[in-house]
Amino acid sequence: MIVVVKVGSSSVTTETVARLCGEIALAREGGHTVVVVTSGAIAAGWTALGRGKKRPGDPAVLQAVSAVGQHRLMRMWQDGLDPHGILAGQVLLAPLDFVHRTQYLHARGTLGHLVELGVVPVVNENDATSDEEIRFGDNDRLAALVAHLVGAHLLVLLTDAPGLLTADPRQVAEASLIEEVLEIDQALEEVAGGAGSAVGSGGMASKLAAAKIATWSGVETAIADAGRPGVVGALLGGETGVGTVFRARVGRLSARKLWIAFALGASGRLVVDEGARKALAEGGRSLLPAGVVGVTGDFGPEDAVEIAGPDGLVFAKGLVRVAAGRSGEWMGRRSDQLPDDMAPVVVHRDDLVLVR
Ligand code: GLU
Repeated sequence: MIVVVKVGSSSVTTETVARLCGEIALAREGGHTVVVVTSGAIAAGWTALGRGKKRPGDPAVLQAVSAVGQHRLMRMWQDGLDPHGILAGQVLLAPLDFVHRTQYLHARGTLGHLVELGVVPVVNENDATSDEEIRFGDNDRLAALVAHLVGAHLLVLLTDAPGLLTADPRQVAEASLIEEVLEIDQALEEVAGGAGSAVGSGGMASKLAAAKIATWSGVETAIADAGRPGVVGALLGGETGVGTVFRARVGRLSARKLWIAFALGASGRLVVDEGARKALAEGGRSLLPAGVVGVTGDFGPEDAVEIAGPDGLVFAKGLVRVAAGRSGEWMGRRSDQLPDDMAPVVVHRDDLVLVR
């Protein structure tokens, strides 16, 4: 199996990393391929700078701090792998690496070659020049995109909690572990809520979002406790009760559709009538101006927008071909009523992903 193991900032300590390296070595002996996605550059950098506990809020400062911590973080992983005679290879990725085809292929090629060379790729976001995960969620999304990139069978998100709980344990004493999730729905997203810890920027909401990306691309996902000895082996062995396991959906989205659905922020929303909703959701058709009944937000061609049905529920996401102003001006018109310079399609089916 190919497994991506992601470790969150709060779990990146010398002891935990050393223990996990032992588990990674065991997994490799068992014939598995392991790719690590690690956070902790900012945390390590801030500790090294010795300026107190509270980390700065300014993303630009955090980017600089990451440069101090990234090589320390790598040292920690190499130190952990040394006793097992394994080399670590650092790969720093930015979100754009998943959008531009050539960069995407390079990233995939590099990871593939590292694996062939017997090296454990250790991936982090290139925080020094890109602050997406600093703002978004402590590498959770990055890990999901990497899992897709390497064609992983399993994504393991290790954190300082036992998994996804039925409620916030700080508020509800009898909160219990959700062991298996067949589909991530709105109710579950509400359970995950917001909030992260003081050390990283993740939290359950971003883990759930990552699990959605991964499971929608056919990768089984687990959220589990980084501090539980043997966690990697137990999950690879399919043991139950080890964190929350999200079953993969059948039918893998392409990298591009995955990107549109989950990685790009929406710049606006189109509301469509029932006929258009059906044509898109069930007929696999493109969205034409005739089906649009409402436009909100300020977007230009190529921006991502959410698409909601008459009930207001978002059921799709796509890249628009027509700017917000023009979409609003010409919505509801049949194709033969449109001016010549107006694209006849608002969202083309190739740029559209159903998200429900
Ligand atoms: N990539 C970041 C790191 O390694 C994520 C941490 C964060 O968002 O706080 O430090």
